[in-house]
Amino acid sequence: MNKELLWGIDLGGTKIECAVLEKKNPSQVVLRERIDTESAKGYDHIIAQIKILVDRVSGIIGEKPKAIGFATPGVLNPLTNTMKNCNTVCLNGQALATDLANTLGCEVKLANDANCFALAETLLGAVQDVNPNAEVAFGVIMGTGVGGGLVVHGKIINGLHGIGGEWGHNILEDDGDACYCGKSGCVETVISGPALEKYYEKHSGKKMKLKEILQAAKDHSDSAAEATVERMVDYFGRAISTLINVMDPDVIVIGGGVGNVDLLYSEGYERIKKYIFNSREVHTPVVKPKLGDSAGVFGAAMLYS
Ligand SMILES: [Zn+2]
Repeated sequence: MNKELLWGIDLGGTKIECAVLEKKNPSQVVLRERIDTESAKGYDHIIAQIKILVDRVSGIIGEKPKAIGFATPGVLNPLTNTMKNCNTVCLNGQALATDLANTLGCEVKLANDANCFALAETLLGAVQDVNPNAEVAFGVIMGTGVGGGLVVHGKIINGLHGIGGEWGHNILEDDGDACYCGKSGCVETVISGPALEKYYEKHSGKKMKLKEILQAAKDHSDSAAEATVERMVDYFGRAISTLINVMDPDVIVIGGGVGNVDLLYSEGYERIKKYIFNSREVHTPVVKPKLGDSAGVFGAAMLYS
Protein backbone atom coordinates (compact mmCIF):
# COMPACT_ATOMS: atom_id res chain seq x y z
CA MET A 1 0.00 0.00 0.00
CA ASN A 2 1.58 3.34 -0.94
CA LYS A 3 -1.14 5.76 0.14
CA GLU A 4 -0.44 7.68 3.33
CA LEU A 5 -2.56 6.28 6.15
CA LEU A 6 -3.93 7.43 9.50
CA TRP A 7 -4.15 4.88 12.31
CA GLY A 8 -6.54 5.26 15.22
CA ILE A 9 -7.35 3.04 18.20
CA ASP A 10 -10.31 3.46 20.55
CA LEU A 11 -9.41 1.91 23.89
CA GLY A 12 -12.77 1.03 25.41
CA GLY A 13 -13.57 -0.80 28.63
CA THR A 14 -14.85 -3.90 26.78
CA LYS A 15 -13.54 -3.54 23.20
CA ILE A 16 -10.45 -2.13 21.58
CA GLU A 17 -11.11 -0.96 18.03
CA CYS A 18 -8.58 -0.03 15.37
CA ALA A 19 -9.41 1.99 12.24
CA VAL A 20 -7.09 2.85 9.37
CA LEU A 21 -8.11 5.84 7.20
CA GLU A 22 -6.66 7.42 4.08
CA LYS A 23 -4.85 10.64 5.02
CA LYS A 24 -5.91 12.48 1.85
CA ASN A 25 -9.53 11.40 2.19
CA PRO A 26 -10.13 10.39 5.81
CA SER A 27 -13.77 9.51 5.19
CA GLN A 28 -12.34 6.53 3.30
CA VAL A 29 -11.98 3.67 5.79
CA VAL A 30 -9.28 1.22 4.73
CA LEU A 31 -9.91 -1.26 7.55
CA ARG A 32 -11.57 -1.66 10.95
CA GLU A 33 -10.79 -4.43 13.42
CA ARG A 34 -11.72 -5.15 17.04
CA ILE A 35 -10.48 -7.20 19.93
CA ASP A 36 -11.80 -7.71 23.48
CA THR A 37 -10.12 -5.49 26.09
CA GLU A 38 -10.44 -8.07 28.87
CA SER A 39 -9.61 -5.26 31.27
CA ALA A 40 -10.14 -7.47 34.34
CA LYS A 41 -6.84 -9.19 33.45
CA GLY A 42 -4.96 -5.98 34.16
CA TYR A 43 -2.78 -3.35 32.57
CA ASP A 44 -0.12 -5.56 30.97
CA HIS A 45 -2.81 -7.70 29.36
CA ILE A 46 -4.47 -4.61 27.81
CA ILE A 47 -1.12 -3.54 26.31
CA ALA A 48 -0.65 -7.09 24.96
CA GLN A 49 -4.16 -7.06 23.41
CA ILE A 50 -3.39 -3.75 21.65
CA LYS A 51 -0.15 -5.26 20.28
CA ILE A 52 -2.05 -8.31 18.94
CA LEU A 53 -4.59 -6.00 17.25
CA VAL A 54 -1.93 -3.75 15.68
CA ASP A 55 0.05 -6.77 14.41
CA ARG A 56 -3.12 -8.28 12.93
CA VAL A 57 -4.06 -5.04 11.12
CA SER A 58 -0.45 -4.55 9.92
CA GLY A 59 -0.55 -8.08 8.51
CA ILE A 60 -3.80 -7.48 6.61
CA ILE A 61 -2.85 -4.13 5.04
CA GLY A 62 0.80 -5.06 4.53
CA GLU A 63 2.46 -2.22 6.40
CA LYS A 64 3.33 -1.20 9.94
CA PRO A 65 2.13 2.10 11.43
CA LYS A 66 4.55 5.01 11.87
CA ALA A 67 2.19 6.65 14.35
CA ILE A 68 -1.08 5.77 16.08
CA GLY A 69 -3.63 8.06 17.74
CA PHE A 70 -5.46 6.63 20.78
CA ALA A 71 -8.83 7.54 22.26
CA THR A 72 -8.64 6.70 25.96
CA PRO A 73 -10.91 6.86 28.97
CA GLY A 74 -9.57 9.56 31.30
CA VAL A 75 -6.59 11.67 30.28
CA LEU A 76 -2.83 11.68 30.26
CA ASN A 77 -1.72 14.14 32.93
CA PRO A 78 0.78 16.27 30.98
CA LEU A 79 2.58 17.20 34.20
CA THR A 80 3.38 13.58 35.24
CA ASN A 81 2.97 11.69 31.91
CA THR A 82 0.62 9.20 33.65
CA MET A 83 -3.09 8.47 33.22
CA LYS A 84 -5.83 9.82 35.50
CA ASN A 85 -9.66 9.82 35.74
CA CYS A 86 -9.99 6.50 33.82
CA ASN A 87 -13.02 4.33 34.53
CA THR A 88 -10.90 1.37 33.39
CA VAL A 89 -9.13 1.89 36.69
CA CYS A 90 -6.04 -0.25 36.04
CA LEU A 91 -4.92 2.44 33.57
CA ASN A 92 -4.72 5.12 36.27
CA GLY A 93 -1.20 6.02 37.31
CA GLN A 94 0.32 4.19 34.32
CA ALA A 95 2.70 5.77 31.79
CA LEU A 96 0.41 4.58 28.98
CA ALA A 97 1.84 6.71 26.15
CA THR A 98 5.42 5.64 26.87
CA ASP A 99 4.48 1.97 27.30
CA LEU A 100 2.51 1.90 24.04
CA ALA A 101 5.29 3.63 22.10
CA ASN A 102 7.84 1.12 23.44
CA THR A 103 5.65 -1.94 22.81
CA LEU A 104 4.42 -0.92 19.36
CA GLY A 105 7.66 0.67 18.16
CA CYS A 106 5.93 3.74 16.76
CA GLU A 107 4.94 7.25 17.73
CA VAL A 108 1.72 7.56 19.75
CA LYS A 109 -0.62 10.38 20.73
CA LEU A 110 -3.34 9.99 23.36
CA ALA A 111 -6.56 11.94 23.77
CA ASN A 112 -9.59 11.58 25.98
CA ASP A 113 -12.53 9.85 24.24
CA ALA A 114 -14.76 12.95 24.56
CA ASN A 115 -12.04 15.00 22.88
CA CYS A 116 -11.79 12.41 20.09
CA PHE A 117 -15.58 12.56 19.68
CA ALA A 118 -15.37 16.37 19.33
CA LEU A 119 -12.48 16.15 16.85
CA ALA A 120 -14.15 13.53 14.65
CA GLU A 121 -17.50 15.33 14.56
CA THR A 122 -15.66 18.58 13.73
CA LEU A 123 -13.46 17.24 10.93
CA LEU A 124 -15.62 14.43 9.51
CA GLY A 125 -19.10 14.70 11.00
CA ALA A 126 -21.89 17.05 12.03
CA VAL A 127 -19.84 20.27 12.08
CA GLN A 128 -18.90 19.76 8.42
CA ASP A 129 -22.59 19.69 7.51
CA VAL A 130 -23.54 22.79 9.50
CA ASN A 131 -20.47 25.02 9.11
CA PRO A 132 -17.37 23.56 7.41
CA ASN A 133 -15.53 26.84 8.14
CA ALA A 134 -16.12 26.61 11.90
CA GLU A 135 -13.09 27.85 13.83
CA VAL A 136 -14.30 26.76 17.27
CA ALA A 137 -16.43 23.68 17.89
CA PHE A 138 -17.52 22.09 21.16
CA GLY A 139 -18.54 18.44 21.49
CA VAL A 140 -20.68 17.51 24.48
CA ILE A 141 -21.27 13.96 25.72
CA MET A 142 -24.45 13.66 27.79
CA GLY A 143 -25.00 10.05 28.76
CA THR A 144 -24.15 8.02 31.86
CA GLY A 145 -21.59 10.74 32.50
CA VAL A 146 -21.17 14.23 31.09
CA GLY A 147 -18.00 15.24 29.27
CA GLY A 148 -16.83 17.46 26.48
CA GLY A 149 -14.12 18.42 24.06
CA LEU A 150 -13.02 21.74 22.61
CA VAL A 151 -11.64 21.90 19.07
CA VAL A 152 -10.06 25.09 17.75
CA HIS A 153 -8.83 25.33 14.15
CA GLY A 154 -9.05 21.55 13.84
CA LYS A 155 -6.99 20.79 16.97
CA ILE A 156 -8.06 19.57 20.40
CA ILE A 157 -7.36 21.99 23.25
CA ASN A 158 -5.96 19.71 25.99
CA GLY A 159 -4.94 22.47 28.38
CA LEU A 160 -2.32 22.81 31.08
CA HIS A 161 -3.78 20.04 33.27
CA GLY A 162 -5.14 17.97 30.39
CA ILE A 163 -8.70 18.84 31.42
CA GLY A 164 -9.62 21.19 28.54
CA GLY A 165 -13.33 20.72 27.75
CA GLU A 166 -14.17 18.92 31.03
CA TRP A 167 -17.35 20.89 31.40
CA GLY A 168 -19.23 18.01 33.04
CA HIS A 169 -17.59 18.81 36.37
CA ASN A 170 -18.37 22.50 36.49
CA ILE A 171 -20.63 23.25 39.45
CA LEU A 172 -24.20 23.62 38.23
CA GLU A 173 -26.30 23.26 41.39
CA ASP A 174 -25.38 24.65 44.79
CA ASP A 175 -25.90 21.96 47.46
CA GLY A 176 -26.36 19.38 44.69
CA ASP A 177 -25.66 15.66 44.92
CA ALA A 178 -22.17 14.32 45.59
CA CYS A 179 -20.12 13.49 42.47
CA TYR A 180 -17.54 10.69 42.13
CA CYS A 181 -14.98 13.44 41.46
CA GLY A 182 -15.18 14.58 45.09
CA LYS A 183 -17.27 17.72 44.54
CA SER A 184 -21.05 18.24 44.70
CA GLY A 185 -23.55 19.61 42.19
CA CYS A 186 -21.44 19.01 39.06
CA VAL A 187 -23.21 19.21 35.68
CA GLU A 188 -22.94 15.40 35.61
CA THR A 189 -24.89 15.07 38.90
CA VAL A 190 -27.76 17.12 37.43
CA ILE A 191 -28.28 16.34 33.73
CA SER A 192 -26.69 12.92 33.12
CA GLY A 193 -29.14 10.06 32.48
CA PRO A 194 -28.66 8.42 35.92
CA ALA A 195 -28.91 11.82 37.67
CA LEU A 196 -32.27 12.59 36.04
CA GLU A 197 -33.58 9.11 36.85
CA LYS A 198 -32.46 9.55 40.46
CA TYR A 199 -34.25 12.91 40.69
CA TYR A 200 -37.46 11.33 39.39
CA GLU A 201 -37.21 8.47 41.87
CA LYS A 202 -36.69 10.90 44.77
CA HIS A 203 -39.85 12.83 43.86
CA SER A 204 -42.11 9.96 42.86
CA GLY A 205 -40.85 7.03 44.93
CA LYS A 206 -40.73 5.00 41.68
CA LYS A 207 -37.87 3.83 39.48
CA MET A 208 -38.24 4.62 35.78
CA LYS A 209 -35.90 4.88 32.80
CA LEU A 210 -35.41 8.35 31.29
CA LYS A 211 -37.30 7.30 28.16
CA GLU A 212 -40.39 6.38 30.25
CA ILE A 213 -40.09 9.57 32.29
CA LEU A 214 -40.07 11.63 29.07
CA GLN A 215 -43.16 9.81 27.81
CA ALA A 216 -45.02 10.27 31.12
CA ALA A 217 -44.23 13.99 31.05
CA LYS A 218 -45.52 14.23 27.49
CA ASP A 219 -48.79 12.58 28.53
CA HIS A 220 -49.12 15.02 31.48
CA SER A 221 -49.87 11.95 33.58
CA ASP A 222 -47.16 12.34 36.18
CA SER A 223 -46.12 15.58 37.92
CA ALA A 224 -42.74 14.17 39.06
CA ALA A 225 -41.96 13.30 35.42
CA GLU A 226 -42.89 16.83 34.33
CA ALA A 227 -40.66 18.26 37.07
CA THR A 228 -37.78 16.05 35.90
CA VAL A 229 -38.15 17.22 32.31
CA GLU A 230 -38.35 20.86 33.45
CA ARG A 231 -35.14 20.29 35.43
CA MET A 232 -33.43 18.71 32.41
CA VAL A 233 -34.23 21.52 29.94
CA ASP A 234 -33.61 24.36 32.38
CA TYR A 235 -30.26 23.11 33.65
CA PHE A 236 -29.28 22.21 30.09
CA GLY A 237 -29.89 25.87 29.17
CA ARG A 238 -27.84 27.10 32.11
CA ALA A 239 -24.96 24.70 31.45
CA ILE A 240 -24.77 25.34 27.70
CA SER A 241 -25.05 29.12 28.16
CA THR A 242 -21.82 29.05 30.20
CA LEU A 243 -20.04 27.27 27.33
CA ILE A 244 -21.22 29.91 24.90
CA ASN A 245 -20.34 32.79 27.22
CA VAL A 246 -16.75 31.52 27.53
CA MET A 247 -15.96 30.13 24.06
CA ASP A 248 -18.80 31.27 21.82
CA PRO A 249 -18.29 28.21 19.55
CA ASP A 250 -19.47 28.19 15.94
CA VAL A 251 -21.17 24.83 16.47
CA ILE A 252 -22.05 22.64 19.48
CA VAL A 253 -22.56 18.88 18.93
CA ILE A 254 -24.44 16.94 21.61
CA GLY A 255 -23.65 13.22 21.81
CA GLY A 256 -24.50 10.48 24.31
CA GLY A 257 -27.82 8.85 25.19
CA VAL A 258 -29.40 11.96 26.74
CA GLY A 259 -28.20 13.94 23.71
CA ASN A 260 -30.83 12.08 21.66
CA VAL A 261 -33.69 13.75 23.52
CA ASP A 262 -35.44 16.05 21.01
CA LEU A 263 -36.67 18.43 23.73
CA LEU A 264 -33.10 19.65 24.26
CA TYR A 265 -33.10 21.10 20.76
CA SER A 266 -36.46 22.90 21.18
CA GLU A 267 -37.26 23.79 24.82
CA GLY A 268 -33.63 23.30 25.94
CA TYR A 269 -32.47 25.71 23.23
CA GLU A 270 -35.04 28.29 24.38
CA ARG A 271 -33.57 28.09 27.88
CA ILE A 272 -30.09 28.89 26.53
CA LYS A 273 -31.62 32.20 25.40
CA LYS A 274 -32.79 32.87 28.94
CA TYR A 275 -29.32 32.50 30.45
CA ILE A 276 -26.87 33.65 27.77
CA PHE A 277 -25.12 37.05 27.97
CA ASN A 278 -26.54 38.23 24.66
CA SER A 279 -29.95 39.87 25.18
CA ARG A 280 -31.72 36.50 24.81
CA GLU A 281 -30.44 36.05 21.26
CA VAL A 282 -28.72 32.77 20.29
CA HIS A 283 -27.54 31.79 16.82
CA THR A 284 -25.27 28.87 17.78
CA PRO A 285 -26.23 25.69 15.91
CA VAL A 286 -26.73 22.97 18.55
CA VAL A 287 -26.87 19.67 16.66
CA LYS A 288 -26.88 15.90 17.03
CA PRO A 289 -23.75 13.95 16.03
CA LYS A 290 -23.38 12.11 12.76
CA LEU A 291 -20.74 9.42 13.29
CA GLY A 292 -22.35 7.35 16.05
CA ASP A 293 -20.05 4.84 17.73
CA SER A 294 -17.32 5.51 15.16
CA ALA A 295 -16.50 8.99 16.47
CA GLY A 296 -13.97 7.77 19.06
CA VAL A 297 -11.85 5.70 16.70
CA PHE A 298 -12.06 8.23 13.83
CA GLY A 299 -11.11 11.06 16.20
CA ALA A 300 -8.13 9.01 17.39
CA ALA A 301 -6.97 8.55 13.80
CA MET A 302 -7.45 12.29 13.13
CA LEU A 303 -4.98 13.15 15.93
CA TYR A 304 -2.31 12.82 13.21
CA SER A 305 -4.27 14.51 10.39
ZN1 LIG B 1 -17.85 15.99 39.40
